[in-house]
Amino acid sequence: MGNTFTANAASGGPGDLRLSNGGTDVFFDVLTLAGCHVAETPWQQNLVLLFADGHRYDRGFSGFDLGDIPWTADWPAERAFLLRVIDTALTRHGWHRLRYDPPYAAEYLARYRELVTAFMPAPAVAPKLGDWRLAPAPALLTRCPEHDLYQGEAGCRLCDPSLQPVD
Ligand SMILES: [Zn+2]
Repeated sequence: MGNTFTANAASGGPGDLRLSNGGTDVFFDVLTLAGCHVAETPWQQNLVLLFADGHRYDRGFSGFDLGDIPWTADWPAERAFLLRVIDTALTRHGWHRLRYDPPYAAEYLARYRELVTAFMPAPAVAPKLGDWRLAPAPALLTRCPEHDLYQGEAGCRLCDPSLQPVD
């Protein structure tokens, strides 16, 4: 079981990021910690919600292709934002809030950064993830008082005992 993160799924290239289920939880944890810190616009908030709710109801099936993201005509800035989230995560932003030590997270992030950098977005005509130019429901952006993360649909991921190691 695991999840694969791709750029142009048809390629099935060696650069794909393949993570175990546990590795996927870590990947989304560190991206959510970084993303909640830097997101400002509706598009950016929607992207971070994808991470905040990632691998919650769809364990083992939460990999996605970068082509599935609802890029708009403003894709250069949108891709730059995704890279900024990755770079912020690479500074270990918020990792002191994790109850575990993520020894492989930096490697996942570095490999994903390569994938994103090489990817050329195309504006989506009918994006299956919706129109990210529209602001998310305010309730989704309510922050966990303990971890300062978006609650999203599934609640703060760092408060979720099914994802986090218990003391
Ligand atoms: Zn929390």
